[in-house]
Amino acid sequence: LPPKKKGVEKQNVKVVVRSRPLSKQEVESNVKSILKYLSQKDILAKDRKFQFDRVFKPETSQIEVYQHVVAPMIPDVLSGYNCTVFAYGQTGSGKTYTMTGNKCDNLINWKEDNDSGIIPRAAAHVFELLPADTREKTVKVSYLELYNEEIRDLLCGDDDTPLKIYSMSSEMNRILSSSSSIYNDMKGSTLIQGLTEVIIHNSEEICKQLQRGNIKRQTAPTLMNHQSSRSHTVFTITIFTKEPTSTSTSEEVLKIGKMNFVDLAGSENIARSGCKEMRAVELANINRSLLTLGRVIHALADKSKRHVPYRDSKLTRILQDSLGGHTKTCIIATISAASYCADETLSTLEYACRAR
Ligand code: ADP
Ligand code: MG
Repeated sequence: LPPKKKGVEKQNVKVVVRSRPLSKQEVESNVKSILKYLSQKDILAKDRKFQFDRVFKPETSQIEVYQHVVAPMIPDVLSGYNCTVFAYGQTGSGKTYTMTGNKCDNLINWKEDNDSGIIPRAAAHVFELLPADTREKTVKVSYLELYNEEIRDLLCGDDDTPLKIYSMSSEMNRILSSSSSIYNDMKGSTLIQGLTEVIIHNSEEICKQLQRGNIKRQTAPTLMNHQSSRSHTVFTITIFTKEPTSTSTSEEVLKIGKMNFVDLAGSENIARSGCKEMRAVELANINRSLLTLGRVIHALADKSKRHVPYRDSKLTRILQDSLGGHTKTCIIATISAASYCADETLSTLEYACRAR
């Protein structure tokens, strides 16, 4: 069995906030900011003070966010641990900018672009670290969209049939939880039937698949207007490594580490009016997934909580093997300083605070 790495805490949950700069238009029309940055961890919104693991001011570069949030996760993923970064916030607050950058459908020259987000940067980082790693390894990516509780594969061809999730049988779970703690981590793992996994040989190929999925997401014929703000996407880089066991030369251990990037549905959809054209069931689904996610993260951060309500939404079921156990999770709550966004900004800060 792979040794548990020191330094990887059992449950490691971070919540950071990133404020986007006021747009040119907002500056021109003299929009006021409601935010004050008190320290690297404290932020004042209107008159309310909030504390997080880190607060990124509007001038924070993409590279700084990468270095602080994602860079420490990559070596863990190579060692076989699962890590997840979520972007949570109202539409227009910078979730996709943080994840991908500005050029979602043109990532060819992302290296020359300071605006490139954390996914292309992680892709490059993985392939910087891999050559020094002498073990036999395989890298794969998958990319899915969760819309109205239906899973769509963003890397498959033309077929748009929603995919099904399979859970491990209760018998399997019983066997896993009665064996060693490593296998206990596999308890509750879910499989998505038929999800395309593309084998990757270099960082450019990761960006190519990301771009392909982004284009598919934007052009799918079944999409309604604005759907992208109502769906979650999960981009996953999986790294398989094989190495001899310490006790036997004929046996090998397979380690599987996943890095998940989750661009969540716009949080303005939570429990507020104003989106009247939205169907009730759709709204209920978004609410449920965002609220369940908050509860799951909260339960993981609070070690006294025994019950983690993974099963209450498809998003948390999909990510179940990456949340809890020996994993690292970070929520990046994206906000706008603009006074006309005050309600949404406060609600995002409250959500992020509760998750912590
Ligand atoms: P979301 O995905 O949350 O709906 P976007 O990422 O699409 O929001 O961001 C909305 C707009 O704001 C985009 O034009 C994006 O380039 C810009 N933007 C967001 N965050 C930043 C940032 N930190 N720095 C510069 N521009 C940003
Ligand atoms: Mg977006």
